[in-house]
Amino acid sequence: MTPSERRATIAVPIGNLVIGGGGPVAVQSMTNTDTANVEATARQVCDLAEAGSELVRVTVNTGEAAVAIEELVKRVRGAGCTAPIIGDFHYNGHKLLREHGACARLLDKYRINPGNVGAGTRHNDHFATICKIAADHNKPVRIGVNAGSLDPELVKRKMAVAEESLNECMIQSALESTEQALTHGLRPDQIVISCKSSTPRHLVNLYRELARRSEQPLHLGLTEAGMGMKGLVWSAAAMGILLNEGIGDTIRVSLTPQPGGDRCEEVRAACELLQALGLRSFMPSITACPGCGRTSSTVFQQLAKDTEAYVRSRMPEWRRQYEGVETLRLAVMGCVVNGPGESKAANIGISLPGTGEEPRCPVYVDGQHVTTLAGTPEQLREAFQEIIEAYIAGKYPRTDGNAAQ
Ligand code: SF4
Repeated sequence: MTPSERRATIAVPIGNLVIGGGGPVAVQSMTNTDTANVEATARQVCDLAEAGSELVRVTVNTGEAAVAIEELVKRVRGAGCTAPIIGDFHYNGHKLLREHGACARLLDKYRINPGNVGAGTRHNDHFATICKIAADHNKPVRIGVNAGSLDPELVKRKMAVAEESLNECMIQSALESTEQALTHGLRPDQIVISCKSSTPRHLVNLYRELARRSEQPLHLGLTEAGMGMKGLVWSAAAMGILLNEGIGDTIRVSLTPQPGGDRCEEVRAACELLQALGLRSFMPSITACPGCGRTSSTVFQQLAKDTEAYVRSRMPEWRRQYEGVETLRLAVMGCVVNGPGESKAANIGISLPGTGEEPRCPVYVDGQHVTTLAGTPEQLREAFQEIIEAYIAGKYPRTDGNAAQ
């Protein structure tokens, strides 16, 4: 599915980016540092953006965090990072935004959770305050409904117990809040909405219905996806279905990192998901076979791993130097059964010998057999990397305007 076949939505400018309106599905992420710790948060915002996050959200939960926004934005922009910075508000957003003018002025978007803006009459007052501040500063908002923090008044009204009723509550919360935001001065091109659940099938049903009933761009994400493989598979299962149906204008993969783990993993996962669906290209892709009884050697596995690490380490420079390099397709295969076929289908492919085969590794470039490598694993790795470098230098136009060599 191409982006042009995606569900039509209103375009919402956020900082230097536009979400919706048929534009590319944007990747976003959220920091897990204490926002009041400006140094750590600024570093993580830049790291997430460098990894591919096109918007970065930060928690704004205390006066200290709200005060820190001014210095945070200064440092992030000073480091050359232009990704829009979004403030995530719950419970006291109305107060923090009212009392901290620089925070309200410098954030590129506010996230409001309608279930967490106060109960009863205070709910409407607080929600109206945030919307009016957003309108005064010409800021977009995300109305971010979450199954875990649904507006209690709505649940009571709907007597929600079954999944269907809960879905309706969540959708109504998003749609009613959107209507309210419009009455408080926001324009349709300032509102993104989301309705997140932690169960893939629930999420799919929710967003299909939401997409049918709203033209606002949708922020898509399986909330609290969990750790490691579970979080990756559940997120991909849920979001893959929806994105393939043209639903979703920006995504976040809500992975729980390992203690001390790399927060950028969630960004890489989101990029891989969009690339797997053919919606965006971020990095050269590497096709590698899983291996089987036809090869007892681990050389092809090691070469696939080394090639992936090499591509990842070279990509920041390649991206600066060569236009379109992210569309490069590589293949590292384990034997003659599928090796030559997959290698010919890639831009550059190498087919390693399986058990009992000649110790020779044919290399294919754009479908043509160009050379055959042999030698130690280290020699194979170096020779293959040289072929990749030469191909990129010769194939992709240079961003500085010089002709390809
Ligand atoms: S390419 Fe060869 S080694 Fe790799 S999975 Fe297929 S048959 Fe097995």
